[in-house]
Amino acid sequence: MPVLRDVVGHEQVKKRLKNALTGRVNHAYLFGGPPGVGKKTAGLAFARALLCQRGKGDACGECDDCTISERGVHPDLHIIRPEGASIKIHQLRAMQDGAAFTAFGTGRQVFLVEQAEKMSLAAANCFLKILEEPPSGVVFILITDDLSGMLPTVMSRCQQYRFGFLSGEEVLQVLANTGTDAGYDDDSARVAATLCGGCPGRALAMLNGSDKRGAMLELLMRVVRERPGSVFAPVEELAERENLAGFINYVILFFRDVLIWQITGSTELVINVDRHSYIVELAGAYAKPEVMDILVTAEKASGRLASNVNQRLVLDSLLFKIAGLGDNDRG
Ligand SMILES: [Zn+2]
Repeated sequence: MPVLRDVVGHEQVKKRLKNALTGRVNHAYLFGGPPGVGKKTAGLAFARALLCQRGKGDACGECDDCTISERGVHPDLHIIRPEGASIKIHQLRAMQDGAAFTAFGTGRQVFLVEQAEKMSLAAANCFLKILEEPPSGVVFILITDDLSGMLPTVMSRCQQYRFGFLSGEEVLQVLANTGTDAGYDDDSARVAATLCGGCPGRALAMLNGSDKRGAMLELLMRVVRERPGSVFAPVEELAERENLAGFINYVILFFRDVLIWQITGSTELVINVDRHSYIVELAGAYAKPEVMDILVTAEKASGRLASNVNQRLVLDSLLFKIAGLGDNDRG
């Protein structure tokens, strides 16, 4: 489990949490903000600090409780996450029972609730009931990517912490902290940090391959290399709206790099530095006006997709443009 001092970014939140730890500890905290920015990491670090016997504002890292936390799971930390589509009342009841157990060390029991917006109405009411007469030492940490999905009655009973996006530098720091043996190079880390939009969780997904960037760029290169033959081949892979939106986004970012390379001949402002050979290849295959044309078409496609236009039409118009169909034969 992490410690607060190692949590990257979120300075305001960390400051408030340290104050909470040295002052009066509340019964319920709510960590809200976009996915993948480190809410759960901060929640675990906060839980660890709450369970530490000696810490002042953070876990000491040395006491018995900290040693147990270090190994992974502390018996007084309970993690609740949705069963199926929602958090059910029986999970909260178990929590109520669990809270009655004798705590192992500090006398605290910490309940970390993931995707707290998924509490069923019955579960939320049960939670509110627990908070009416909270068993001593019980602390809830609710985590949500979707504050709008939270019940106002639940929110109002929690001390609220808003998490924002990290800077590119901070994302790189998270990657450096977690990636010592993850097997990716500096270039890949830099690209992921640039493309992840301030969400280190997303950058890590890109780096461990669970993100579709690599596949999307391969698809793009296939269309470019086999034009016009392949124009209709990849449609299946882009049948889902989410995939198509991702593809269009990567087309924009990639052709933007191609244009920068054509104009400056330098990688200084290029985002996809780890695909330099592709950028050079495309820079040779398309004239500047064609690249600009593709960028305009891709931007339009992105807008049309957002306004719910027929997906197939959006995709075809973009692929036709990339394949150069309808343009003069370039030989
Ligand atoms: Zn400790």
